Amino acid sequence: SFTLAIVGRPNVGKSTLFNRLVGRKIALVDDLPGVTRDRRVHAAKLYDLKFDVIDTAGLEEVDSESLEGRMRAQTELAIGEADLIVFLVDAKAGITPTDVTFADLVRRSGKPVILVANKAEARGAESGMYDSYALGLGEPTPISAEHGQGFPDLRDAIVEIMGEERVFPDEHVKPDADDTVAVTIPATPRSMDDLIGDDIDDPDADEVPAYDSSKPLRIAIVGRPNAGKSTLVNTMLGEDRLLTGPEAGITRDSISVDWEWNGRKIKLFDTAGLRRKSRVQGKLEKLSVGDALRAIRFAEVVIIVLDATIPFEKQDLQIADLIIREGRAPIIAFNKWDLVENRQMVLADLREKTERLLPQIRGIRAVPISGERNQGIDKLMAAVASTDEIWNRRISTGRLNRWMEGVTTHHPPPAVAGRRLKIKYITQVKTRPPGFVISCSRPEAFPTSYVRYLSNGLRETFDMPGVPIRLVLRTSD
Ligand code: GDP
Repeated sequence: SFTLAIVGRPNVGKSTLFNRLVGRKIALVDDLPGVTRDRRVHAAKLYDLKFDVIDTAGLEEVDSESLEGRMRAQTELAIGEADLIVFLVDAKAGITPTDVTFADLVRRSGKPVILVANKAEARGAESGMYDSYALGLGEPTPISAEHGQGFPDLRDAIVEIMGEERVFPDEHVKPDADDTVAVTIPATPRSMDDLIGDDIDDPDADEVPAYDSSKPLRIAIVGRPNAGKSTLVNTMLGEDRLLTGPEAGITRDSISVDWEWNGRKIKLFDTAGLRRKSRVQGKLEKLSVGDALRAIRFAEVVIIVLDATIPFEKQDLQIADLIIREGRAPIIAFNKWDLVENRQMVLADLREKTERLLPQIRGIRAVPISGERNQGIDKLMAAVASTDEIWNRRISTGRLNRWMEGVTTHHPPPAVAGRRLKIKYITQVKTRPPGFVISCSRPEAFPTSYVRYLSNGLRETFDMPGVPIRLVLRTSD
């Protein structure tokens, strides 16, 4: 957890914001000057965030010559104790020299700070908001503490500056090495525990909120024996490419290969195919679940290579299901396309089958290729890159809740046992894959059909085809 201090000159609305966050009227506004308080730190809540707020109460009522001096001392004290400063300005009144003095104080402390422009709903607040850039504290987050507006964005700003790990200490268990990964979780998790430990084997994942295309994209290539995995990998790499040795962090006998596509760094992982090169040849190879799992967990995107002339056998579907349950994004390559006649018809048929046989995820990308003839690989890689971007996507709490408001207006949750189910808000708690928490009443009573309706709605509205989406319903406390 962390401690937050609301800092700003008198009358910018610190008390009102404090009250909103603490959710009670222990507040400064109806405080009597000079009254000593027993607690200086109060438990606060903002949607799913829980933290402490330092109470800098009583100061604004103190009418003394040394007001500014005392405030300054108090503020410095609060800054010293806080992990995070919310620097509040009054957008309606504009920026005053006192704001500048206080902002300097904050900046000199070196503590993380969020600039918040209060009273943003007021007429003329816009110019005050723009002026606040000049404080050098970054971009202002507009809110109205009094009317309760802008709080989703404030929530996101806090998560961004503090880091998810700090903000959700219980929900982010980091693996300690590259190859330690995550528990398998059910396709439709229903409790917060199901999200725990689901972080991919990328220790930096939490520090990279936005999509970072400078990092190597990790791709695993899986599929039944003879689907054409090795041929595909060899075509991708070109003949003269050398395999890099076993990597640190990856288990001994698995091998990854560095590659580049369109200037994008790639790490390829192909268990069966690469292994065969270095091991006994001729023996019929069998893809063990262990091998497949290792490959899948290594990856962000998993290419399932199917032989287009004998597609979708039971084992293919099992592999796809495994990928989805591991939270990775599957892409299907219909290989040996050079052998296919009647291509348009076959492709339409295969795509229809994909949607029908893998209903867990809508919009899985499926691309015809010929590994042997080096055809379709650019399209395949374009599908991989765009799916990876979606897998990493983060949607702001504001956008999510505007969507949720529309949804619950047009198609509200049903009544169960005579009482209507209620949804309070939705937040995205993780990426890779996108994971959302819906705060609601009686989560256990929500019909699966309604939950599916919501996750399909999320997928469509925020344009996230082809990746697993995690949705957790939780009681709002
Ligand atoms: P793996 O077991 O999945 O690695 O499959 P291989 O790459 O060893 O390929 C199995 C067989 O399919 C080999 O005889 C390949 O020559 C053949 N093959 C692979 N890709 C293609 C392709 O795109 N078109 C055709 N016609 N044959 C292919």
